[in-house]
Amino acid sequence: MSHYPFCSSDFKNEPYWWDLTPRPAAHALPLPATTEVLVIGSGYTGLHCALQTALAGRSTLVIDAADAGWGCSTRNGGQISGEIKPGYAVLARRHGAADAVALVGAARGALDWLGGFVAENGLDCDYRQCGRYLAAHNSRQFQRLATAARRQIPGLEQKQQVVEKRDQSSEIDSDFYHGGLVIEHHCGLDPAKYHQGLLRLAQTNGAQVIGHCAAVGIEREGDGFIVRTSRGSIKARELVVATNGYTGAVTPWQRRRIIPIGSYMLATEPMNPGFAARLMPASRVFSDTRRIVVYFRRSPDGERLLFGGRVSVFESDPLRSLPALRQEMLHIFPQLSEVKISHSWMGFVGYSFDSLPHLGTRDGIHYAMGYCGSGICLASYFGHLIGLQLLGKAQGNSVFNQPRFQTRPLYRGKPWFLASAVRYYQLLDRFI
Ligand SMILES: Cc1cc2nc3c(=O)[nH]c(=O)nc-3n(C[C@H](O)[C@H](O)[C@H](O)COP(=O)(O)OP(=O)(O)OC[C@H]3O[C@@H](n4cnc5c(N)ncnc54)[C@H](O)[C@@H]3O)c2cc1C
Repeated sequence: MSHYPFCSSDFKNEPYWWDLTPRPAAHALPLPATTEVLVIGSGYTGLHCALQTALAGRSTLVIDAADAGWGCSTRNGGQISGEIKPGYAVLARRHGAADAVALVGAARGALDWLGGFVAENGLDCDYRQCGRYLAAHNSRQFQRLATAARRQIPGLEQKQQVVEKRDQSSEIDSDFYHGGLVIEHHCGLDPAKYHQGLLRLAQTNGAQVIGHCAAVGIEREGDGFIVRTSRGSIKARELVVATNGYTGAVTPWQRRRIIPIGSYMLATEPMNPGFAARLMPASRVFSDTRRIVVYFRRSPDGERLLFGGRVSVFESDPLRSLPALRQEMLHIFPQLSEVKISHSWMGFVGYSFDSLPHLGTRDGIHYAMGYCGSGICLASYFGHLIGLQLLGKAQGNSVFNQPRFQTRPLYRGKPWFLASAVRYYQLLDRFI
């Protein structure tokens, strides 16, 4: 059914990725009464953690309120950077120069780690080191990018190439941007294929994964926990919260520290191959310098444009935000005005107040979350680390255990301040 005149006749209000990787069939597996390790949330964080504990021979159960991988891990843009939001200068002010280098370096190391993980395990997920084009939305931002590329922080140098606006057609068929920066080692993948490969790997190694089983209450019992779920209670020795942008009332401490922010995506219908290739000839992943960022890329088969951004503060129905998102796309690519939209979807990205990802243990409950939109690589790596930490292995220790996981007075998990913050950032984007 078509919803707007610009939608294709086979339009779906769900992720494009699910066409190729349908949601796993819901098996009514019996819920075990006990497990050594219980992981709440079956995205990249939960599955990577479960893989480690299962490999170590611990009985491991992963539960999810919906289908396995229903959250962001099968809905994202498939762009992998290994970058944390705050830049070196901000981190150096907050934590000192040495820790700033350590934090940025550890996050970038996660990108190499993920590439190795995908290759070693032969995961079929269209993983490609395609590079990123970071496009400047005005000339001031272009100057800022060019200066930063010339004066890279010692110890954090990376292969980058400044592209002037006049040379930009080799990267993008658009006059919208004022030049940009190619970051060679950033990558792309199909997020749902990656999730499916990871799910199979965790299961093959002994982790049990049960969908449609929401955790609704947690109580301490002896040296473990009783977790009440929508399908009965489970006794667990160790408990891991891996719910990121979907963190809810069952873990109020974590909920007070995560700001769920909607991110929206669309896919176009398949385009003529020559036309699609001309849009982004080098076939990289793209994002821009705006604070209210947009991001886009071609689908792994090269036929479609996948375009995302933060176009609405209040909507959770991507259909209602679709006209605004399409408009953003047409500002950059007016030549797509006749191309139909085949999919639209959204998900909740988990932000933290200091824009850093966090992992650790609170009241005996392990957690890893707050990836601020860079979770393909960071959620995977943090899930892996939290699994190792739970096993008491020194390789699990991370510099990211150190920064305090902050909240704010009166914040309970509903970001009432978001609308004004977004409007403020949109204003800054217009002028700075
Ligand atoms: C539209 C969009 C585009 C994005 N693009 C990118 C990108 O290009 N690159 C990038 O690196 N990152 C991107 N991200 C972010 C990235 O997808 C996430 O950071 C990452 O997937 C987080 O993984 P996770 O396992 O921590 O959480 P999720 O994959 O979100 O999993 C959390 C799970 O917890 C479950 N859950 C919640 N509460 C309960 C409960 N009480 N009981 C049981 N289960 C529960 C949920 O059902 C959910 O399945 C994007 C996100 C969105 C929404």
